[in-house]
Amino acid sequence: MVDIVRFCRSRKDGRRCTRHLDHLGLHRHRAVMWADATADPPTCPGSGAVAAPAEPSPDGYPHGRGLCRECSRLIPIETGRLASHDSSDAGESPEETMWRREWLNTHGW
Ligand SMILES: [Zn+2]
Ligand SMILES: [Zn+2]
Repeated sequence: MVDIVRFCRSRKDGRRCTRHLDHLGLHRHRAVMWADATADPPTCPGSGAVAAPAEPSPDGYPHGRGLCRECSRLIPIETGRLASHDSSDAGESPEETMWRREWLNTHGW
């Protein structure tokens, strides 16, 4: 069983906070620190990007979704473009996280 560490989802200038989920105090990425008020908006800049369905694994994952190169997640495609989505998905299941990591390991960029 893989123990998945959940990281904080805040971003600043595209850099992701490297502290743990639900940490206290300022967000931090190396020497850069920021507060919620100055964090990036949650909508991923990859929303609406032209995309093709990603190559499926033998089990069918990711089921026609496309890879967002901004947030490295697999996003539903609507008429040839990535659906609007946040940079991180609070509702993502641990299974989805594991499948996605496996898929990325196999297919890379
Ligand atoms: Zn943070
Ligand atoms: Zn994205």
